[in-house]
Amino acid sequence: MQVKTRFAPSPTGFLHVGGARTALFSWLYARHCGGRFVLRIEDTDRERSTQPAIDAIIESMKWLNLNWDEGPFYQTKRFDRYKEVIDQLLKEGKAYKCYCSKERLEKLRADQMAHGLKPRYDGHCRCDHEEHAPDEPYVIRFRNPDDGIVAFDDVVKGHVEFQNSELDDFIIQRSDGTPTYNFCVVVDDWDMGITHVIRGDDHVNNTPRQINLYKALGAPVPVFVHLSMILGEDGKKLSKREGAVNVMKYREAGYLPDALVNYLVRLGWSHGDQEIFSREEMISLFSLDAITKSASGFNNKKLDWLNAHYMKTLPGDEVGAELEWHLKRLGLEDLSNGPKPCDVVKAYAERTHTLKEMAEKTLCYYRDFESYDPAGVKKWIKEGSVEVLKDAHETLSKLDSWDAKSIDEALEELAKRREIGMGKVGQPLRIAITGTAMSPGIGDTLVLCGRERSLERIAKAAAFFGA
Ligand code: GLU
Repeated sequence: MQVKTRFAPSPTGFLHVGGARTALFSWLYARHCGGRFVLRIEDTDRERSTQPAIDAIIESMKWLNLNWDEGPFYQTKRFDRYKEVIDQLLKEGKAYKCYCSKERLEKLRADQMAHGLKPRYDGHCRCDHEEHAPDEPYVIRFRNPDDGIVAFDDVVKGHVEFQNSELDDFIIQRSDGTPTYNFCVVVDDWDMGITHVIRGDDHVNNTPRQINLYKALGAPVPVFVHLSMILGEDGKKLSKREGAVNVMKYREAGYLPDALVNYLVRLGWSHGDQEIFSREEMISLFSLDAITKSASGFNNKKLDWLNAHYMKTLPGDEVGAELEWHLKRLGLEDLSNGPKPCDVVKAYAERTHTLKEMAEKTLCYYRDFESYDPAGVKKWIKEGSVEVLKDAHETLSKLDSWDAKSIDEALEELAKRREIGMGKVGQPLRIAITGTAMSPGIGDTLVLCGRERSLERIAKAAAFFGA
C-alpha cells in the first residue's frame, strides 16, 4: 500500500504555526514512506474563504519547502462529485432531506438544554411523509447509526470510541446547496486515496461522524493521527506574538525556512534528545509512533538558536537567496553592483541573529547610506582620524590586489608607521565604509564594498570629517 497523506487547510486565514506543523508532519510522513503528499484547499465555506488566504497558504508552503505531489485541489471545483455522492446516499436512504425550520430547531435545542440534555437533532425528518413545495428550503442530513459504538485507534491518542447515540444526523448539504466540511473531507480523502489523516486534535470529535460516513459509502477508513495542541511559553493558548500568526511573519522577521521547519518538527515529535535535524535526517528518522501525546510548548529562544545555527551552517547560496529577499524588501532593486549575497553571508553569519538584521547591516554594500552613525562618529572620529583616512586612501589605492589579506597587511603597516593602534585605523574606516563602527574584519569589509566604492567612500569621509 502506498502511503498518501494530505494537508487540507481551510483558507479562512493565513498559515499559522499550528497549521504549518500539521503540514510538515504530513509531508514528512509521506516522504519518509516514499509515499505521496497532497495539498487540498478546503474552501467550501465561501463566506470565510478568501483568495488572499489561499495565496498566502501556497506561498508559505513554498517558502517552507514542503512540496506536494498532487494538487492544490479545490473543494469548490468538486461540487459535481459531491452532488453525485449525496444523490447516491439519498437513493440508498442513507441521507435524507430535512425541512425543519429554524424555529423548530431552536425550540428543540432550548428544550433539550432545559432538561440537561446535549443538544442534538432528533431525527424528525427521517421519515417525513409530508408534501413539500419545490421551493421549500431544506438541508440534507446523514442518517447516523442509532446504536452501537464507533471506535478508532488513533496513532497519537490511542483507542477512542463514541456511542452512536451521542452523535446526531449531521448536515451534509446546507440549504444553499453547498456541501459541508464533514462530508467533503470524507469524499475527498476517499477519492484521493488518502491512507493517513494527520491533523490537529481539534478534529477528534469530527472523526466518528466521518467514520460512519466512510462506512456508509463502503470506503476504506484511513488511519487517524491527531496532533496535540501547541501551547505558548506560558502553557496557555498560543498567542499572536508567539506564532499564532502568519508563518510569513517569521520570514519577515529574518528566520530561515530550515530553522522554522527544524523548530516545528520538535513541537510534538522527538528523536532522543537531538535538536538539530537536516531535512534528510528528519525524513529518514520521522515516525508516527514518536509523536508525543502531550501538548508541546513554544520556545522563542530555541527558534533563535536554530536560526543562528542554520545561518552559519547552510550553504551560502541558500542563505544568500533569503538575504536577497530581505535586501529587496528594503527597497534594493538591483544587487549586481554589490557583493554576491553568499559572500555577505559568509562575513556576517556570525555577527547577526537574523537575516533581517543582516540585510539592514549590509545594505550599505549595495547602496550609499545617508548618514554616519553619530555614536560611532563621536567615539572614533578624533583628531588625526582625517589624516588616517587620507593616508589609508593613498595606501590602498596603490594595492595591486584587492583581497582581505593584502588590505589587512597594508593597514597594519600604516598603523605601525603612524605609531597608532589598529583601532584608530580600522574604526574610522568602518565608519567611512558602512556608516557604523561595526563590521567584520576591516579587510573583509573593504572587499565586500569593492575597491572603487571603498576608495570613493574613504575620500568622501575624509572630506566630510575634515570640513
Ligand atoms: N480544513 C480543516 C482545517 O483547516 C482540516 C480538515 C482535515 O484535516 O481533515 O481545520
